[in-house]
Amino acid sequence: MKRTNTFLLCPTRSQEKKLFELADKCTKMYNEINYKRRQSYFAGKIDWNTDEEYHKYKKVIGSAAAQQVINKNNEVWKSYFSLLRKWKTGKLEEIPKPPGYWKDRSLGLRILKYLVRSDSYRLEKRKLKLPFGLSIMWKGRNKWKGKQGRLEIFYDDLSGRWYARMPVEVKPPHQPIGQKRAYLDLGVKCPIVAYVNGEVFGYRGNSLLADWWYWTHEIAKYQEVLDKNGKKTSKRLRKLYRKRQRRFRDAINKIVRDLVERCWRKGVSEIICGDLKGIRENANFGRKSNAMIHNYWSHGYILRRIREKAEEHGMKVKTIDERGTSSICPRCFSSVVTRRGRLFKCQTCGLEAHRDAIGAQNIRLVHERGGANNRVVAHPLLLSP
Ligand SMILES: [Zn+2]
Repeated sequence: MKRTNTFLLCPTRSQEKKLFELADKCTKMYNEINYKRRQSYFAGKIDWNTDEEYHKYKKVIGSAAAQQVINKNNEVWKSYFSLLRKWKTGKLEEIPKPPGYWKDRSLGLRILKYLVRSDSYRLEKRKLKLPFGLSIMWKGRNKWKGKQGRLEIFYDDLSGRWYARMPVEVKPPHQPIGQKRAYLDLGVKCPIVAYVNGEVFGYRGNSLLADWWYWTHEIAKYQEVLDKNGKKTSKRLRKLYRKRQRRFRDAINKIVRDLVERCWRKGVSEIICGDLKGIRENANFGRKSNAMIHNYWSHGYILRRIREKAEEHGMKVKTIDERGTSSICPRCFSSVVTRRGRLFKCQTCGLEAHRDAIGAQNIRLVHERGGANNRVVAHPLLLSP
């Protein structure tokens, strides 16, 4: 499995000057190749040839780096075409966009990156050894150990600092100790509810949600100030967005880590996760709030973290379509049910349960296509992350 170590770089003034120069050229080369490919693609036939760019830039950034830029662009186009195939066969809901430039679209600023081939750099205890005799101090945690991949050095204009991302190929540190399945229901009020072996547990999302709303209001307030001044964006606004996202991600990471470790200790080897479409029917905060949640709340991130954490424990993750699972009764399979607030009531067999307990159990029913279950858990055990 692939993991990434991220380091903060502390270059000297002259080293930073060199980094700017290299990243500037690298980015120019990438964008030129991409421009050519986009133009030819839209005209009907993509032009893969990059000889011209290679010869133009190898003198300034080195032939190894020039080759990495070409490889990187090849990879994003390949991944675009594979997504496009998925979309054409109906496996993807949204049509993918052709690869964009290394550029922040809202700002019109280029994203400065410098790529270093896997065998052209060395991470030492305190210094990162790079081509052109650069030896730069770094800070951070060298968490993942394994075969190193292509290094990406980039400039973060919000903090004014340089970072390096080092991908590493590692073996999963754990293997499952049993063969059980866990069924997950993702939501907003309870970000994750799990059903494992007759037990339902979930996580309280109150503090996470309150924090998320707080920063959402801060963003809205500041946006108004900007509007009054006829400005669309500013560094401060982008910092607020970043802050909200980081806090959200930190909280989610805590929940996911606890969830996956808990499942692992219970002997889970496979996680079945309800498809994210279902979240739309689960969240109910009023129309305006719902729209905001769906625009900014990153369900994709939660699922990605579940996949990554599960992978580290040797578990598989599968998603299934959960449409309608919150409106059937897990005890008798009746769809004559009422839902009021967080309460779920079956009009056929009389089952009353907490709504959050229903979803995860129904994902299991849908997945196993089995009959109804007469030992339904009515209340999830809620954990505070
Ligand atoms: Zn029922």
